[in-house]
Amino acid sequence: MLDKVLIANRGEIALRILRACRELGIKTVAVHSTADNTLKHVLLADETVCIGPPSSKDSYLNMPAIIAAAEVTDAVAIHPGYGFLSENADFAERVEKSGFVFVGPKAETIRLMGDKVSAIRTMKEAGVPCVPGSGEPLGAETELTRKVAKGIGYPVIIKASGGGGGRGMRVVHSEAALINAVNVTKAEALAAFGNDQVYMEKFLERPRHIEFQVVADSHGNVVVLGERDCSLQRRHQKIVEEAPAPGISDKQRAMMIESITAALGRVGYRGAGTLEFLYEDGRFYFIEMNTRIQVEHPVTEMVTGIDLVKLQLRIAAGEKLPFTQQDIEIRGHAIECRINAEDPKGFVPSPGPVRLWHPPGGPGVRVDSHLYTGYNVPPYYDSLIAKVIAHGEDRATAIARMRNALSEMVVEGIKTNAPLHQEIFGHAAFQQGGLDIHYLERRLGLK
Ligand code: ADP
Repeated sequence: MLDKVLIANRGEIALRILRACRELGIKTVAVHSTADNTLKHVLLADETVCIGPPSSKDSYLNMPAIIAAAEVTDAVAIHPGYGFLSENADFAERVEKSGFVFVGPKAETIRLMGDKVSAIRTMKEAGVPCVPGSGEPLGAETELTRKVAKGIGYPVIIKASGGGGGRGMRVVHSEAALINAVNVTKAEALAAFGNDQVYMEKFLERPRHIEFQVVADSHGNVVVLGERDCSLQRRHQKIVEEAPAPGISDKQRAMMIESITAALGRVGYRGAGTLEFLYEDGRFYFIEMNTRIQVEHPVTEMVTGIDLVKLQLRIAAGEKLPFTQQDIEIRGHAIECRINAEDPKGFVPSPGPVRLWHPPGGPGVRVDSHLYTGYNVPPYYDSLIAKVIAHGEDRATAIARMRNALSEMVVEGIKTNAPLHQEIFGHAAFQQGGLDIHYLERRLGLK
């Protein structure tokens, strides 16, 4: 097993990684910005290194500082968590070139999948169904772009090849708006991702977002751990996730597992990863792959009984997967709510001191959070402060447990979106399941 792991992240996921390391007897190094001295995992880690000022670009995105911290502490591996440098192929390469293990896929795989155009091409070639689209980056010839859009049929969506976090996308409803939308998206993509490549897809009007969790070891074994439904979104950002996806038949699941396993075997995938699909009228369409652990991984853990973060560490240590596809059994239903420090109505971030934190509990309830009473939520980072996960023998039980949990949870001093979650769980449409990705915005009157 790895001797010492540096956790290159913050917040709840850093704490999640620390806990997994401890269970495996791995020593931990927490790196943090000057704004994060009092983060829970920083207080718990075996060693800590301050890597820079609050601004992410000077701390959590500062590659030389992170690698230097691994050197001075004699860490053997770096776990990037999600966000920050987790899908940065240059970082993975630098980590490995400096003699450390990167807890994730090989740099070349991150590069291949990080570019959405090359990811789609790879999946298409392997026989995975994709959204009808340009298949190629859009060039400078406007006539050709118009022709491609006409071929796909309006509405279309222009997406940045290097995009992420729900940014760098623009829907186009008519030819008159097309070229301007392409140019604006290009300019935005260049500013946000340093890459102005954009491509075009059919804009699906009422799809669901369904993604498949995969794990692969460095010995060529790939296993798919079922799917999650993450259709409840605002501004393309997930708010509620669940596993399994309501209404997906065993036959459909088995077909997807077969096609995904074959595709990942071809690319020599290693580590945990997620293939994201849109699902409409009974069909799946690949949109992108995330080559890292995801925020919503706990719902898969709850229904499979597999600890994904421990598994990431075992895979990084060169171990074989301890199970095969036939061993995977989905038990019951799990739902996760992302609790953000924000106003539940206007969605304005609400950082500040937490006067009281009382997490919920009870059968089937799990809370992944770095919060504690007296902790000060800094204004510089993502507003996610807790994930509440409820598991039950069926979806109705999971929902009932989640509603109980949310009603028990107390956060004082800052505002959270918990009231929005309470409201969603009261909707008859949510209780029925199978909502499309635009449901929440329609319901909130944002569309
Ligand atoms: P990101 O990497 O920024 O998360 P994705 O490609 O995963 O970008 O898309 C994020 C979300 O945007 C999806 O979950 C979906 O809500 C919406 N979206 C993306 N592509 C399409 C499409 N072709 N049609 C409709 N909605 C889309």
